[in-house]
Amino acid sequence: MKLRIFLLVTSYCLLVTGLCGCQNQQLYTDNRIMMGTFVEVISPYKQAAGIVFSEIKRIEDLLSKYKPDSEVAKLNQSGKLKVSPDTFFIIKKSKELWQTSDGAFDITVAPLVDLWGFTDKKYHLPREGEIKNTLKLIGCDKIILHDDDNMIKFKLSGMKIDLGAIAKGYALDCAVNKLRKAGIKSCLINAGGQVYCLGGKFGKPWKIAIKEPRGRDFTGYLELKDKSVATSGDYEQCFIKGKARYSHILNPKTGYPADSRIVSVTVIASSGLTADALSTAIFVLGKEKGKALAKRFPDVEIKIIEKENVQNNR
Ligand code: FAD
Ligand code: MG
Repeated sequence: MKLRIFLLVTSYCLLVTGLCGCQNQQLYTDNRIMMGTFVEVISPYKQAAGIVFSEIKRIEDLLSKYKPDSEVAKLNQSGKLKVSPDTFFIIKKSKELWQTSDGAFDITVAPLVDLWGFTDKKYHLPREGEIKNTLKLIGCDKIILHDDDNMIKFKLSGMKIDLGAIAKGYALDCAVNKLRKAGIKSCLINAGGQVYCLGGKFGKPWKIAIKEPRGRDFTGYLELKDKSVATSGDYEQCFIKGKARYSHILNPKTGYPADSRIVSVTVIASSGLTADALSTAIFVLGKEKGKALAKRFPDVEIKIIEKENVQNNR
């Protein structure tokens, strides 16, 4: 498990560079395995890591489909549940993003994610009939939200949700809120390649190196302050069968892995939630529709790499 996550992290696009510039300016670094990935905290404030880890744990305990006692797992089990404000907020936000992305971003893909073996990592090419059957359970319009008492209900039994494409970003936002409340003005959090840069590093922006997808070289640097950057790509979790590559980002309308000619999408935004969700949605939509979607979010910048721009483009 640790080795798999280490391999995962090193394959991620973003690497933090120039960790400690000035001699007498101390940076504290700590890391932990959380949310099925590697979480690293870098800050001149010694107490920052503890604040970040405890807030991410709080969010993970609510939203992880892998934790049987989480609200998401209980909702998936029973099909209806009164949930906490955090869970209600993120499911409502996900439903809005489903609308805005014309159904490309869809948290009800969970039964499809299971069917393709991306949950238990036993990758599997389903038969067409299995996919057709499972597609009946997909669509955020089948989630009923009661604003008055935070009750959530699924219209059909067998429906499930998976917040894998949005909750990491949300967890970063919550951790940054806690840091700000504690008066901490500078911290970098890297959660499995999704990064949040709070403030700058000793007065300068944090410097993040972008690694080329499927390769080992760096394609460039980002200088960020009070911004989050997230990347969705087809090389992080995928399997190859015959000549085809099947990645963990699925098209909720076809039931198959998204095939939009995109290899990776990097999104920069002030909110971790927006960066996380948009990178997945744009990956499904493809370049043109993806760019149009991004335009609807004022402070968002995107970088798309398509198959024709990478060497190994299987
Ligand atoms: P993103 O593009 O951000 O998300 C892709 C993921 O979103 C897919 O893996 C799938 O789950 C889902 N998805 C696929 N297609 C769509 C779509 N069209 N619309 C919406 N969602 C879609 N992994 C483990 O192995 N073990 C764990 O214990 C574990 N715990 C987790 C706890 C939390 C709270 C979260 C958020 C994730 C957890 N994960 C766990 C998943 C792991 O971290 C994933 O690698 C991660 O969620 C994928 O994010 P990404 O940025 O690579 O891809
Ligand atoms: Mg995402």
